Amino acid sequence: MEFERLSIEEKILFGMAADVRLNAQAPYSHFFVGVAVMSESSKVYAGCNVERASWTQTTHAEQNAIDSMVSAEGPAKLWKLALIGGTENIRIGLPPKRTKHELTFDEVPVPCGHCLQCIWENCHGDGGVELFSLCNNGQIAKITIDNVFPLKFGPKDLGVNYGK
Ligand SMILES: [Zn+2]
Repeated sequence: MEFERLSIEEKILFGMAADVRLNAQAPYSHFFVGVAVMSESSKVYAGCNVERASWTQTTHAEQNAIDSMVSAEGPAKLWKLALIGGTENIRIGLPPKRTKHELTFDEVPVPCGHCLQCIWENCHGDGGVELFSLCNNGQIAKITIDNVFPLKFGPKDLGVNYGK
């Protein structure tokens, strides 16, 4: 979809994601990611990727934003998430510049498997939580956690049900 068709809240999330992306600490991958999330109580949080020389201690942007939400609100439910990723040298302005490039399915930016698990953990069982990402042709992809992560392991598999 086109950026202009997003709701005000979704545009705000993308603005925050674009801003926080500039703070990424990514001296190894040079891949800068910014994420903003909105909780069910309409509060917003942002996070960027933070790489460390040991690699395994790297914090992903999605996790960073969600952990900020949990730090502020406790185990809150995620409502929406906006993601902007790209190599360090790519400057992203909003509204994004559109190109005529037709996207292929595998070009749609999605969170990594680690982050899909982090996201699902705060969906509180709602597979309809919306994930928006900026594609390299300037269009916005809108998917749900169910679309991108159909078979999930989560709190319920351990007999746990928190946040409700
Ligand atoms: Zn990730």
